[in-house]
Amino acid sequence: MAMAVLEILVYPDQRLKQKSKPVEVFNDSLLQFIAELEETMRAGPGGVGIAAPQVGRFERIIVVDVSCKPKIKNHGRLVMVNPEIFAKEGNVVGREGCMSVPDFTGNVARWDRIVVNALDEFGNQQAYVMEGYEARAVQHEMDHLDGLLFLDRLVSRRGNLFPRKVYKNLQVLIPGGHEKITTLSRSRKSKTN
Ligand SMILES: [Zn+2]
Repeated sequence: MAMAVLEILVYPDQRLKQKSKPVEVFNDSLLQFIAELEETMRAGPGGVGIAAPQVGRFERIIVVDVSCKPKIKNHGRLVMVNPEIFAKEGNVVGREGCMSVPDFTGNVARWDRIVVNALDEFGNQQAYVMEGYEARAVQHEMDHLDGLLFLDRLVSRRGNLFPRKVYKNLQVLIPGGHEKITTLSRSRKSKTN
């Protein structure tokens, strides 16, 4: 099947505020779209997550894969359709970035451990217990489904938004940029992942 890297909507595009609708039909056309969504996520090395509304399709679909990060507990490639957080605990502040907000990163508080119920790309019900970086990535992508960006969730308005100077040179090498989420426990120097 023909694959395409899709165009990413960039803040302040008002469409990013739109709430997405649940997926009701599972067919080849959905599989094709999910393949292209994943391709778009992987277009930059280090891309760890993407949500359908970021490419202008307002359906509740996210793709997350944090397995490229060393020593982080993960489920590998995750396609979540109509995801719902079933249980949650703990609270941790970490630095997040977003393909739709290429010029900034910000500090955001997220649940540290979550149980997520979701359908896979074939419509089968799944449940995932996850924590830390992977849980953060899933919560970030799920926010897109409700029209929220990390900018809407900054720990506070002052002192928690950072120009992405560190990445500027990197993005010359990696056109298009990519999703980057780092936690506070990692040093600023390590943000090149
Ligand atoms: Zn994002």
